[in-house]
Amino acid sequence: MSSRKLQYYGSKILRNRSRGIDISSEQEFLHSLLADMLDILRLERGLGLAAPQIGENVRVFILNSEELSLKDHSIFINPEVTTSGPLNKDEEGCLSIPGIFEYLRRPLSAVVTAYDFSGKRFTLELDDYTARAVQHENDHLDGILFVDRLSPIRKRLVKKQLSEIKREYGPDNRIL
Ligand SMILES: [Zn+2]
Repeated sequence: MSSRKLQYYGSKILRNRSRGIDISSEQEFLHSLLADMLDILRLERGLGLAAPQIGENVRVFILNSEELSLKDHSIFINPEVTTSGPLNKDEEGCLSIPGIFEYLRRPLSAVVTAYDFSGKRFTLELDDYTARAVQHENDHLDGILFVDRLSPIRKRLVKKQLSEIKREYGPDNRIL
């Protein structure tokens, strides 16, 4: 069993900028990281998961390719994302921020270039919710959470819930 655990709002790891992976020299680390990420994503029934969410500040995320239009790609290593198109409003949630679901605007389209586990580079042109999911996960690699992107009014409305999550799951958690 792995000791990697889901990180919740309040964890400092979620706020760091993650480093790139050297795919050829970090195969062992990458293999164990991806195994844990896939386990946790399946267990939590999430749509996507970024490495910082299980405590590793590296540029890797995974997405549920059965739920999203990803042409069977589910592993994204050292991704580069560019966005385009009009802003589109839709609902988001995050495994690290349980119980909060909010509508927010993001560009409708995205192009992602990344590497798979074998080190092969690929590019996908994405729209709609798949483009949104890629932007959400890629934000995690820069220490950005979806609640950071809410309007000031919405931010104020979720403030209390966020501090409750921090208290319940955070490093100064006193619930035994
Ligand atoms: Zn998230």
